[in-house]
Amino acid sequence: MSDRPVPQPGILTIAPYVPGRSSAPGKKAGDTIKLSANESPLGASPKAIEAVKAAAEKLEIYPEGSSRELRAALGEVHGIDPERIVVGAGSDEVLHLLAQTYIGDGDEAVMSQYGFMVYPIITRAAGGTPVVAPETDYCADVDAILAAVTNKTKIVFLANPNNPTGTYLTAEELDRLHAGLPANVLLVIDSAYAEYVTAADYGVGISLVERSENVVMVRTFSKMGLAAARVGWLYGPAHLVDAVNRIRGPFNVSVLGQVAAEAATRDVAFTKALRAHNDKWRVWLSEEIGSNRLRVLPSQGNFILVLFADAEAARAANGALLERGLVVREMGGYGIANGLRISIGSEAAMKAVATTLKDFMDGQ
Ligand SMILES: *Cc1c(COP(=O)(O)O)cnc(C)c1O
Repeated sequence: MSDRPVPQPGILTIAPYVPGRSSAPGKKAGDTIKLSANESPLGASPKAIEAVKAAAEKLEIYPEGSSRELRAALGEVHGIDPERIVVGAGSDEVLHLLAQTYIGDGDEAVMSQYGFMVYPIITRAAGGTPVVAPETDYCADVDAILAAVTNKTKIVFLANPNNPTGTYLTAEELDRLHAGLPANVLLVIDSAYAEYVTAADYGVGISLVERSENVVMVRTFSKMGLAAARVGWLYGPAHLVDAVNRIRGPFNVSVLGQVAAEAATRDVAFTKALRAHNDKWRVWLSEEIGSNRLRVLPSQGNFILVLFADAEAARAANGALLERGLVVREMGGYGIANGLRISIGSEAAMKAVATTLKDFMDGQ
């Protein structure tokens, strides 16, 4: 017997998630621009802020447990069945709930090589083993994912578009992935950046969910101006919603999160404005940086991944950016040590990044 409590097997094999920096060493908060967490450069929907202020008058009352009004708004705006939505405290909670519901000791979950770093954590937390499928030139590879599936596989996790690469699978490729999976394997499509996608051959996952019993789409409000509110959701088959709701905490999403997300969902004009801003500056920044002997992966998200000659060059470029108060995301933890992920920010921020990297490359 141990002389102290011992975590479940698997827990201590988890490498803790390391978030991006939020400040530059030696700089005051007012002198830094945070481009490390894919947050909205336009703030939150003013309607969401208003809703939170109004709700703050009633903090003594428990929330409605199933986020009913928010689900109704999502149902209307996305044209989907509110009964097949589950809301969580960020999509992180939703992803955890899915892992807890479907993965047990000895099970496997398949994920892509440069996939979102939360997937291996939640897989191990549930007692499972992450199985990594190699990517082809920084893009998820359907054949490699299918080849990694065994009779122990319970879930395939796919962020589409993916963070941190920004690359995506077309709707057709997604269909091919689904068609190749056994019926008992759950395909989790994490469409965290759906609102920022402009590619015409993209599919968010809704039609695949509606055509099958083993696909779930996961979404978040965090990249749309509500990161602080912590709200995410899933849309899935009725049997999955029933199972997940059995382990979901009865009051898992705060009133403030619920009302903020409901208002933001209905504020379609704000979503459009965010998308338009992002599209403009994603194209602009990719071209500017790409003209400096640097490779920028084609991105469908609200960030770009810049590849330097090697890890040393990426570190030096990061130093030059920090020097000017520009805080971006280092990629060593993802196994892309020569990369820096840069969130699409304000016009001033984008111009400062472009100038800094041009100066940096001119000096190389
Ligand atoms: C940011 C992100 C999330 C997490 O979002 P939260 O709702 O803030 O928990 C999930 N998946 C991907 C791919 C992300 O980039």
